[in-house]
Amino acid sequence: MTTTAKALLRREMMPHILCPGCGHGIVMNTMLRVLARRYDNLNNVALVAGIGCSSRIVGYIDANTLHTTHGRALTFASGLKLARPELKVIVVTGDGDGLGIGGNHLIHAARRNIDLTCILFNNETYGMTGGQLAPTTVREAFTTTSPAGNTEPHFDAAALATAAGASFVGRGQAFRPDALEEVLERALDHRGFSFVEVMTDCTEYFGRKNSLGGGSDLLFTQSRSDEEVSRDLSEWPSLRPGEGWQVRETQPIGVLSEDSRPAFEESLGLPGYKRKET
Ligand code: SF4
Repeated sequence: MTTTAKALLRREMMPHILCPGCGHGIVMNTMLRVLARRYDNLNNVALVAGIGCSSRIVGYIDANTLHTTHGRALTFASGLKLARPELKVIVVTGDGDGLGIGGNHLIHAARRNIDLTCILFNNETYGMTGGQLAPTTVREAFTTTSPAGNTEPHFDAAALATAAGASFVGRGQAFRPDALEEVLERALDHRGFSFVEVMTDCTEYFGRKNSLGGGSDLLFTQSRSDEEVSRDLSEWPSLRPGEGWQVRETQPIGVLSEDSRPAFEESLGLPGYKRKET
């Protein structure tokens, strides 16, 4: 028996804080649907978050939830998982939280291959703190701290996790919740460090600063190249092609890499993990 996405919400926490058109609500709903298919309740699931708009959503889900300090979600999650290996521990983080302030923790969690699932919401900016430049902000994009356009290259989060040793890496988009569901299912089935980057848009800062339109416009551009967007503009009259169009890029989605090397817990012989030589 399983439950419904709605039944897993903490209704007393509503209304939520997300801005109109923010992609994070779509991603949260996708996560809820996946969890509802897998569990009757979330008594043995822990959601651990850092600080930011995406991290805030764990408070809306009726699991064991930890809202921790900026950039440190993976450290809290690692301690929790080693102390309570029977729990399914899922980290919810943003690009500023997980790749900027907490980037060091991400590479070491991946290197250890600890059995956690990390879902990183990539909105290419620091949303909650005012739309500052993040390590994922692409060149030429405008933010509150790059008013003349970003001059730095950006991180490819999925490539970084792969290089650091994550044994499962996937990417999804708020634009394609069906495909995202499949990636999240596979990530939760995986034993070892699974990392899923989710492209989801900040309408309030990134969209507005880069003249990318509203929530639906931003979703539309997630899956299209610049050429396709230009070609299809006539079908989307609400789109305002501004200086920001060149900042969108098309990236592959789905499961990007997976291997079966032993999880950190297996090398320690923790309960529920058969000891294997690393
Ligand atoms: S500030 Fe941006 S990321 Fe945060 S809730 Fe608003 S639109 Fe979403």
